[in-house]
Parts: sequence; structure tokens; C-alpha cells
Amino acid sequence: MFSFNFSLLVYVFIAIFLVLAVLMCYQESKRRQINFYIALLLSLVFTTIISYIIILNSPLREARGCVSCGNTKNESDVCGMCGNLVKRDDYKIESHLVE
Ligand SMILES: [Zn+2]
Repeated sequence: MFSFNFSLLVYVFIAIFLVLAVLMCYQESKRRQINFYIALLLSLVFTTIISYIIILNSPLREARGCVSCGNTKNESDVCGMCGNLVKRDDYKIESHLVE
């Protein structure tokens, strides 16, 4: 008689979930000013979705900045300090990930 072991399926699911959480924390901690282990701890204490929102609120390591006013922490097309448009001339940041 075949009996399906549900606990094995749960362990496999948890393993996949942990691997994805570690990869997400590794990827985002490279780009943003947050320690990898702090990001991993957040995703274990809270869920991965909530920790991802927290991690997304931490600033970028290589922000674009603003030439007009010297705001080094600007990350968007329009500077939050002076309101001028910021030209995209730095190709160090992977632009498809920023937007
Ligand atoms: Zn500015």
C-alpha cells in the first residue's frame, strides 16, 4: 500500500524557501547598505516578503547622486533635494535593477 509522506514534502518546501531567502539576501545586500547576516536574520524572524520590504527601504551602496546640488544620496531621475532632472551617466549601476 502506497502512503505519501507529507512531512518530506514540507521539508523540501522549507529547504527551497530557505535557499531562495539566502539568495535574495545575498543579492540585495550587495546592492544596498545592509549587512547580509542582518538581512538573513530579518527574513528568518519575519517572513521573506516583509523582510524584502524592509531591505528595499535601505539606501543603495552606489547611489546616482545629483550634480546640481551635490546630493550624494539621490537614487531617482528627479532629485529629492533640488527637484532637477538627474542625467543617467553612470553605468556602474545595473539600470534594469534600479528602476
Ligand atoms: Zn539635486
